[in-house]
Amino acid sequence: MHAEVINPATEDIIATVEMLDEARTEHAVRRASAAMNTWRSISAADRARLLQRFALAVEADMENLAQLETRNCGHTLNNSRFTLRKIVDCMLFYAGAAERLIGKQIPVDGGINITFHEPVGVVAVIAPWNFPLMIAVWGMMPALAAGNVVILKPSELTPLTTLRLVELATEAGLPDNVVQVVTGTGPAVGQTLLDHSDVGKVVFTGSTAVGRTVMTSAARNLKRVTLELGGKSANIVFADADLKAAAEAAPMGVFDNAGQDCCARSRLLVQRSVIDEFIELLVPAVRSVVVGDPTHADTHVGPLISATHRERVSAFLADKPQIVVQADIPEGPGYWFPPTVIRSDDGRAPTATQEIFGPVVTVIPFDDDDDAVRIANDTTYGLAGSIWTRDIGQALRTARRIEAGNLSINSNSAVRYQAPFGGFKQSGIGRELGPDAALEFTETKSVYISTA
Ligand code: NDP
Repeated sequence: MHAEVINPATEDIIATVEMLDEARTEHAVRRASAAMNTWRSISAADRARLLQRFALAVEADMENLAQLETRNCGHTLNNSRFTLRKIVDCMLFYAGAAERLIGKQIPVDGGINITFHEPVGVVAVIAPWNFPLMIAVWGMMPALAAGNVVILKPSELTPLTTLRLVELATEAGLPDNVVQVVTGTGPAVGQTLLDHSDVGKVVFTGSTAVGRTVMTSAARNLKRVTLELGGKSANIVFADADLKAAAEAAPMGVFDNAGQDCCARSRLLVQRSVIDEFIELLVPAVRSVVVGDPTHADTHVGPLISATHRERVSAFLADKPQIVVQADIPEGPGYWFPPTVIRSDDGRAPTATQEIFGPVVTVIPFDDDDDAVRIANDTTYGLAGSIWTRDIGQALRTARRIEAGNLSINSNSAVRYQAPFGGFKQSGIGRELGPDAALEFTETKSVYISTA
C-alpha cells in the first residue's frame, strides 16, 4: 500500500510513500535486534567518530533537507534552514556524548561497586508532523550515542526528510539497520512498535491523547517511555515590561510554524492596567505578519499541514469569540489560516483552554502576580511559557511558580539543545536534550568487586 505526500502550500502531490503493515514492522524490529550486536561491539570512540560523520553528511545535505522539509511541512524556508543548522549542531553535540557515559566508583563494605551505563537495546522514536526531522534527531542521536539502535516512525503526512536522514546514515558508514525508518500509520506501524517485546524504549512526541495510548501499551511489557506531548503555554506580560518589545515578539511567539508548535505561547496574559496600551501595540504587529508562499524570503507564516487540520482549527472560531485582529491570507490553493488574536476576559473561551495547534492566541487580563500564576497554571498542560518584566526578581519568582518545563524571560523561545526539554503535568514524562539525554537511553548496572 502507498500513501500520497502533499505539499500543504500548493496541495500538490509531491511523493508517494510505502505504508508498511504490522508484519514488515516486525521484520524491522528483528533486523534492529540483530544490529545491536554490531553496534555494541564498536568502541565508544569509533561510535563517536561514526556519529560525527553522520552529522557532517547531514550538514553537507542541509540545503536539500531544508527545501524538502519546507515542501512537505510548509515551514518557511528561512525557518527550515535555521532548524537544519541547529539539527547539525545537536548531532555533533551528541556524537561527543558517546565517549562521556562515565560510571561511578563507590567504596562499600569489603570492596567497591562500579557502575556502567548499558544501552537499553532497540529504541523506537515516534514523531509528529510539525517538526519531523528535528524531533527524530532529538530522540535518535542520544540513543545512538548510548549504544542503542533506532527505529524512526515519522508521521504518515511528513516522512520525506526522515527517509533521507536514514539514507545519509548509510552514506556516512553507520552499520546496516542501526538506524531504520518505518513508514505507515500510527495504529499499524506505531502500535506494532509499542507492542513488540524487543523494543526496549519508546520516545513519543505527539498529542496527549495518543500519549496516553502509548503509555498504556508500554505498560504491558514495562517498556521505558519518554513522552513529549501537547501544551497551552502562557506568555505573561507585566505592566513594567518593555511593552513594545513584548507586543512585537508576541505574534511570532505563537504564529511561528502557523502555530503548529507544542511550545506556542497561545495564551497572552497581560496585566490589566496596561492591557489597552498593549493591544494597541499588538494590532499593527499582527497586521504586519506575512502569510504565504513559504519559499519566499519575506514570508513569516506558511500553511497548516492539511485540510483536516484546518477544519479542526477553524472549529475553534465557530462560536464567534471576540476577535481583536486577524492577519491576511493568500487566495488559491494551500491550507491557509489567518493568524488571529482573540480576547477572553474570563479566560474560559475554548481558545483559552484547549490546545489549538494553529495560529490563534487569546489575550487574557490579570490583576497581580498571584493572579497571573493562577491563570497560567490553570491547565492540565505544563510545557512552556514566557515572562516579560524589567524586574528580574519578579521574573525569577514567577518562573519558579509556573508549572512548566521550559520558560523564557523577556523572550519567547526557551528550547536549546544544550539544555533539558520536557513537560510538567500532562505535557509529558521525562526530558530530552541537554547534557544528560544519553543517560535516558541506558540502564545503570552496578558491579561489586571484593577487595577482601
Ligand atoms: P499524534 O499524537 O496524532 O501523532 C504523533 C505520532 O504518533 C504520529 O507519528 C502518529 O502516526 C503516531 N500514532 C498515532 N496513533 C498511534 C498509536 N496508536 N500507536 C503509536 N503511534 C501512533 O500527533 P500529531 O502528529 O497530530 O502532532 C500534533 C501533536 O503533537 C500536538 O498535540 C503537539 O502538541 C504535539 N507535539 C508535542 C511536542 C513536544 O515536544 N512536547 C512537539 C511537537 C508536537 P500517524 O499520524 O502517521 O498515524
